[in-house]
Formats: sequence, C-alpha cells, structure tokens
Amino acid sequence: MLLTCDPTDTAAGMRLLEDLTTNANQVQQQVLKEILTQNANTEYLKAFLDGHATKNIFKNKVPVVNYEDIVPYIDRIANGEPSDIISAQPITELLTSSGTSGGQPKMMPSTAQELDRKAFFYNILVPVMNTYVEGLDQGKAMYLLFIKPEISTPAGLVARPVLTSYYKSSNFRDRPFNKFNVYTSPDETILCPDSKQSMYCQLLCGLLQRTEVLRVGAVFASAFLRAIKFLENHWRELCLNIRTGQLSDWITDPSCKNAVSLILSKPMPGLADLIEHECSGISWEGIIRKLWPRTKYVEVIVTGSMAQYISTLEFYSGGLPLVSTMYASSECYFGINLKPLCKPRDVSYTLLPNMAYFEFLPVIEDHEEKMQEEVCCNGKSDLESGINEEEWVKSETVDLVNVKVGHYYELVVTTFTGLYRYRVGDILVVTGFHNSAPQFRFVQRRNVVLSIDTDKTSEEDLLNAVTEAKLVIEPLGFLMTEYTSYADTTSIPGHYVLFWELQMRENTDQLPELDPVVMEQCCYRVEESLDSVYRRCRRKDKSIGPLEIRVVKHGTFDALMDFCLSQGSSVNQYKTPRCIKSEEATKVLDSRVVARFFSKNVPSWEPFRIEAKNLLSDRHRAV
Ligand code: AMP
Repeated sequence: MLLTCDPTDTAAGMRLLEDLTTNANQVQQQVLKEILTQNANTEYLKAFLDGHATKNIFKNKVPVVNYEDIVPYIDRIANGEPSDIISAQPITELLTSSGTSGGQPKMMPSTAQELDRKAFFYNILVPVMNTYVEGLDQGKAMYLLFIKPEISTPAGLVARPVLTSYYKSSNFRDRPFNKFNVYTSPDETILCPDSKQSMYCQLLCGLLQRTEVLRVGAVFASAFLRAIKFLENHWRELCLNIRTGQLSDWITDPSCKNAVSLILSKPMPGLADLIEHECSGISWEGIIRKLWPRTKYVEVIVTGSMAQYISTLEFYSGGLPLVSTMYASSECYFGINLKPLCKPRDVSYTLLPNMAYFEFLPVIEDHEEKMQEEVCCNGKSDLESGINEEEWVKSETVDLVNVKVGHYYELVVTTFTGLYRYRVGDILVVTGFHNSAPQFRFVQRRNVVLSIDTDKTSEEDLLNAVTEAKLVIEPLGFLMTEYTSYADTTSIPGHYVLFWELQMRENTDQLPELDPVVMEQCCYRVEESLDSVYRRCRRKDKSIGPLEIRVVKHGTFDALMDFCLSQGSSVNQYKTPRCIKSEEATKVLDSRVVARFFSKNVPSWEPFRIEAKNLLSDRHRAV
C-alpha cells in the first residue's frame, strides 16, 4: 500500500484524505494483510505464525513488544545478518531514535520503500495547509532544517536520525516544490554537517529573501527558538555580510559558500540598515513579524513536551498562528493535523491508516473518574502525570476504528519495515473522529519526566544520575533527603533544574556553607550520568544549557507535600513528584532556595558505536 499524492492538486489531495479516513478500517485490514503476506516467512514472524498470515492468528500469537525485546534482532542486522530475519524488504538503514535503551539511542529498521511512504506523507500535508491558508504559492517558506551526525554499523549499514535520512534522500532533493525555488534555505545549507555554519547560512538566506517569506518554521519548537537565539547573537555579523555582500570567513564549507554566494550576490546596505534597525530595538517582542513582514504562520511542533515553548514563541512571533502539522517518529510517520490553524492546546492528529497497522493498548478503564478525583500538584490528573503502567499492559489491544472518544491509549505499531506490534511509548487520548478515522491529542511519552529538546529523561534515568552525584557529597557527611526537578525553559537554551534538600549526617538542623566546587562537581556528575541523547544535546547541538542544582532549606519538601494535598492529591497515595510541571509548585520550591550551582563542564559525548558481535547466531552455534 504505497500511495502517491500530487501536492499541487489541492482538490485531489483532500479527496484522497476523505477516502482514507472514510475507509479507515478497510485500509487498515489491507495494510495488515500486505505486511503479513510479505513478511510471514521472516524468522521473526515465522516463529509465531508458522506460515499463517491471518489477522486472528497474528493477534493471538504475535506478542506486543518493547524495544528490549527486539534488540537482539536489531543487533544482528547491524552486524550483517540478512534483513529477512525481520523484513522481506531489504533493510537499507537504521534510524536512531531520541528514545534510548541502556543509555544508547534506539535503532529502528528502515527500507528504501519507506522513504517513498514519507514523501507521500509530506505531500499530503500541502493540500491541507492550502485549504486553510490562501496564497501560499505567492512566496517562500523559511524552514530551518538540520542534519545530525551518522555512523556506520560493523556491517556497513548507516545509522542516523530519521530526518537526517530523509533530508539526504533523493525524495527530499526532488521534493515537488524544490524546483520552483520556494524554500529560502538552499539544500546545501541544510545538508552542511557543521550545525553552526548551517544555521548561519540558513538565517542569512532567510534575511536576504525576507520580503518573499510567507511562512517560517523548524521541525520542533525548541529548534526554532534556538535559531532566534542564534540570530540575537549574530545579527550584527549577518548585517555586515549583507551590507558588504561578503560572506564571513569562518563559513568554510564549500557547498554552503557556493549556494549562499548565489543569493548574497551584491552589497545591500539598505537591507542591512533595515534589519539592524529592527534587531537593535529594546524588545524582541514580535521580531518574526518585523523581520519577515508577510509571514502568515510559524510551522513548528508545539504539542507534547514542546508545549512548554508556546508562550516564548508567541512573544517572538507577535501572535502569529503556531502550526503543528504532523506527528511522526523513527518507527513510522503516524498522523497529520487536519485543522492546522487551531490553538496549540486543541491540536489533534488523525492517524493515516495507510502508514502502518495501528493498535491501541487501553491505558485505564475509569480514566474520567480518576481525572476528576485525583488532581495532583502538577495541575494534571495522576493519569497524565504518572500513569501506572501495570494497569494497562495486560489489556487486549483495540483496532484503530474501535477506539473511544475520551479514552487514553498507548500506540502500538506494525510497520512495513520489520516492527511487529511494537509499543511506541506514546500515550494518546481520542478527541473525536474524522469520518471513521479517530483523532488523537498527544498526552505524553511513557516514562519521560524531563525534556528540553530531543532528550527524553525518565524518572529512572534521573534517579540513577542523582544517585551517582550523591557519591560526591555523601563522603563529606551530607545526606540528600529529597529531590525533584523541572525543565527551565525561561532562557534559551533551556536547562534541567534539580531541587535538593540536604542535611548533615551529624547535625541535622544546621546546613554548613556549601562548597561551590563540590556542588558544581555534583551538577557535572548528574550530566555525565544522563543518557547519550542528553549529552549530545549539551555538547554537540548545544540545545540544552548547563544543569543547575538549587539547594532548598530544611522542610521544603514538606511544604511541597502540603501544597500538593491542598490541590487534591490523596494523602495515602502521595509520592514526591520527581518532576514539577506547575508554576505554583515551582514557586513553593523556589521561595525556599538557599543556594544555586551550575555545571561548569560540558559532559562527554561521542557518536555511539555499535559493537561488532560474533556473527554466529545461537542456532548456528548449536550446530
Ligand atoms: P524520534 O523517534 O526520535 O523521532 O521521536 C519520536 C517521538 O517524538 C514520538 O514518539 C513522540 O513521543 C514525539 N513526537 C513526535 N511528533 C510529535 C508531536 N507532533 N507532538 C508530540 N510529540 C511528538
């Protein structure tokens, strides 16, 4: 089931969407049939299906799995065993996800055909946008897009993030509108491996074409805000380049230089004056509208963990609509927003039934009652702030068209690329239906408490890192009695904040003055102990700032508990939240801070390596 969509034909694209959503069930059955027929003889499926490719047997015999269950297969592929252990189609690359397993990025199999499926997905977004916003063909899009480092597996397969894979593909290079020159960033600037040169050149090209720009964006809100911060730091130099017609010397990437020189072809002192005038104003409120005056909207994902950036984006954009168009992952691209101009909190995604076979694990039966009864101190129900996994993993999955409005589910996918009944880890709630296709609001990622950019830190990751840092202070006679955390995004880049309540082992009432060197060491030890995606964001992407520890005075966590109880948490079930999301709860802690310390070192990061394993599988060894 590989569909095509001509993005220039709005009426046909919208008709196709109507067909897909009206026939969601039939399309899903066809997708499953196709996946099973193609892959029934893979080692993985054969073990469960024994050659039978029916839906019933599939649902009864093939287990719902987590990443840890499929790691042995992924490792074998990485080490050169044939793709057909999991997929009939050749696996052409592994996609490194921002989720981690054992501290390393997870890796999802992908195929050449999957790139075409992604191209379809991007194409069908276009008619939706054109239906809601007129005249987008009258100007350009300033999309700031970046690639990330990639590695090669011992068997020579490339492993890289999904967007890097797509931007390097011919599908991206040959995207339908590219030939009409509608993007301000030349492909060479997007594909530049040096992220600083890439950012500088893309912003320069965006500024040079400012009067043509009708929409601006990046994939995630965090990346767009990072670009604004970069502009704040570099606008003088950018203006100098525009004034003189000369690109800065430190842009050394030959392809970037070449591509930019075609746009920066002569001195433009008038344009430089204008940009300087806007950027040197006292406030940067509404700077997007000022620099790109024809902009109709900002296209960035602002759902899920990105919702924390909405107010900052509103400040810089001067109230332009924030448009979250799609919901996707390394495993598979899932769904699109059919009402792109709705408010961020109302965004729902309609899963496209042709992208994969979707199943849903009900999270909890009586969620509505729980929602009302147990409002905890984060201003969210316990369901949304700490769902008890035990309660749903044993349930039967529900098919796409059978989910119920208001119910919460975890998404499970069976893809065309070798994942079968795989738990994505995202919790979604059904908000309604478009024809027979359900629409979902993204609630949260299972087990993630802290996230600034693409990092996803779980409660367990945090506990392990804090435990490591405790080893620095415990020999000095300190006890850490409580801790919690929050993602501080008031500055760009945002950073992790930990609140620690400390006391002395000997004298529990008095806390002596804390040695900054020791406390900074604690900050660093936490950072060193967090996973590789966090450390990459800190060291390479610089999309997360230095971690901060705020030491709070004795009794602060009792005050936090009192606050949570006053907000409706139950006394019996009270557990210190390991991550604080509500402003009021943060205030309770902040008003009792006695000292603050920041990490002075940047944690180490190296592109991860996939170890070459003995290529003999157990089966061969037995022989
Ligand atoms: P990755 O596999 O690294 O690309 O990360 C994919 C994950 O990012 C998804 O499973 C979601 O948890 C999150 N994500 C992707 N798109 C969205 C979205 N539109 N809204 C909220 N979260 C998203």
